[in-house]
Amino acid sequence: MDLIYIITMKKNLHVNKALDLLKSSPLKVTSQRTRLIEILFKNGDHHFTAEDVHKEVDKNKYKISLATIYNCLNQFTKHDILKSVRLSSDKIYFDTNTKAHHHFFCVSTEKLSDIKSSDVEISNLPTIPKDKKLKSVEVVVNISD
Ligand SMILES: [Zn+2]
Repeated sequence: MDLIYIITMKKNLHVNKALDLLKSSPLKVTSQRTRLIEILFKNGDHHFTAEDVHKEVDKNKYKISLATIYNCLNQFTKHDILKSVRLSSDKIYFDTNTKAHHHFFCVSTEKLSDIKSSDVEISNLPTIPKDKKLKSVEVVVNISD
């Protein structure tokens, strides 16, 4: 198997996995959602904002408004096809890697990168408020140039 074949195969796996999630979700499989999934997942695990997606959609000569992209990304997040990462900055990042993991956030370049969940050890957590349960602990390590 040559490298190009392996990369193409891998791309398809990411897209196919996301399309399977879409099919098993209550969301209707529309050509618009399918196109967005192809754009979002073709490069495997990565992070992006709705604006990034809008630029990419334009480059591909598709006509999807920023508001529609926002709606789709939020629907995908609601149905666990994507994950959202909220930072102290006002931007919302979306993540194709929906497994629990941590992030570096570079405040100079505004880029997120993954930290494996096993690379961060949480040694002390506060008591969870009554009637609440722990959902996840995700750490953002802010860095700069
Ligand atoms: Zn991530």
